[in-house]
Amino acid sequence: MTAWRNISLWMDQLDEPLKARAALEHDLDVDVAIIGAGYTGLWTAYYLKLQAPTLNIAILEAQTAGFGASGRNGGWLMGNLLNDDRLLAKLPAEQRRASFDLLHGIPDEVGQVIAFEGIDCDYRKGGALYCAARYPEQEASQRDYLRHLHSLGLTHQDYRWLSAAELSEQLRIARPYGGIFTPHVATLQPARLVRGLARTVERMGVRLYENSPVTHWQPRQVRTAKATVRSHWVVPAVEGYGVSLPPLGRYHLPVQSLLIATEPLTCAQWQSIGLEHGQAFSEASRQVTYGQRSADNRLVFGARGGYQFGGRLRQDFNLTDSEIGLRRYLFGELFPQLKDVRISHAWGGNLGMARRFHPHMLCDHQSGLALSGGYGGEGVGASNLGGRTLAALILQQPNELVRQPWVRQQGGLANLSTWEPEPCRWLGYNAIIKSFVHEDQTLANPGAAPWRRRLASQLANAMESLMR
Ligand SMILES: Cc1cc2nc3c(=O)[nH]c(=O)nc-3n(C[C@H](O)[C@H](O)[C@H](O)COP(=O)(O)OP(=O)(O)OC[C@H]3O[C@@H](n4cnc5c(N)ncnc54)[C@H](O)[C@@H]3O)c2cc1C
Repeated sequence: MTAWRNISLWMDQLDEPLKARAALEHDLDVDVAIIGAGYTGLWTAYYLKLQAPTLNIAILEAQTAGFGASGRNGGWLMGNLLNDDRLLAKLPAEQRRASFDLLHGIPDEVGQVIAFEGIDCDYRKGGALYCAARYPEQEASQRDYLRHLHSLGLTHQDYRWLSAAELSEQLRIARPYGGIFTPHVATLQPARLVRGLARTVERMGVRLYENSPVTHWQPRQVRTAKATVRSHWVVPAVEGYGVSLPPLGRYHLPVQSLLIATEPLTCAQWQSIGLEHGQAFSEASRQVTYGQRSADNRLVFGARGGYQFGGRLRQDFNLTDSEIGLRRYLFGELFPQLKDVRISHAWGGNLGMARRFHPHMLCDHQSGLALSGGYGGEGVGASNLGGRTLAALILQQPNELVRQPWVRQQGGLANLSTWEPEPCRWLGYNAIIKSFVHEDQTLANPGAAPWRRRLASQLANAMESLMR
């Protein structure tokens, strides 16, 4: 299916034919019905089957495995959760450290599973560089953030400051002010991971149906246009697509993230940039600007995208000239030598943002609902933790996975905050993003007066605090 290849650079690179698996044509009775074949659904099926091989599990996917964010993302596999510092700050120091260790272990856990299952997805654990890269205020904000992390008990082994010279040993950008290095991040080829996981769970006996959109769901039952699945457990694993399964759209806002990739760069070009060991990198801008060097030597580079009124899903990810232009401008600022390189791929996808801006993993034995999501653009690693956690909750294993502040063991969706009704959401989201863009443009202008710079940051800080 050519259309599925066009989803992203990563799907385009697959060396498999992308033939759809059979759709669900008949009613089924199963133990666990999972909706969505992205990382969350597949990791949940994997850990369930690993520990309870006799469980009868079916996955229903609207399109094909990897059609969602899992086949499109930037390939950062992070050993953390979005805003985990806020969640963990409330815990006693020892417990907090144990939770951070659990999170930092995510990339190694994924690395071990893919090695064991033979999933080749260009996994490289080179850590991440959070760079102060375009204006001096970035250095101050990164240093503040590092102090905050250390105040929570994280050490220099976890997060450490790199001077401009040290940063340049790993990544050479036009105006290095230094940055934070953490070893707890790996990079990978996202579509190879999701497609490999799909094959793995099928081999373990999970039934995966494609081209089978779920039209209705309720406790113990899901329906497609052609069939009904009765199930003890229902696991909606659709993250940014919550609007397709009411009422999930009230809890997960579909926000876009947009990426571009260059054609493969030459050895000389990479010598001028660095990133020799699979390091991920990002720039300390609230526009969430990040990238990686792909295994075939492209620069893959992304930044936050928009939100559509009413939570409508964006379907067409043929990026506009201005969407591509903004990302080109941003990486051109970091790497002026790449200003004229050809962009071979441009794409994007929908991800799910929870109202409290951190993920949740919940399970309700009474209604048979298990849900993990709201990763807010940091879901490659979080979904692995989510899958492990949902498996432990469903199998009633009282281990450390289920004793975390992002886990709710009772009450189901009632635990989650809902997004404000429109037009508040749209106005709020756009006002916040505009303040971030305004801050970035003001600070990147060396001629901007100090009072203007301060005001732009204060405004962005105030808007950011509205997100809490
Ligand atoms: C462009 C982009 C870049 C990103 N970059 C990163 C990154 O570098 N690092 C990081 O940690 N995170 C990143 N993320 C976020 C991360 O990719 C996601 O959080 C993660 O992939 C979510 O996985 P998931 O399985 O929960 O959802 P998805 O992968 O979105 O899977 C949901 C699946 O459900 C299916 N579905 C939807 N509705 C239905 C229905 N009604 N019936 C049946 N099936 C349905 C969809 O077709 C889809 O296949 C990025 C996201 C995007 C979009």
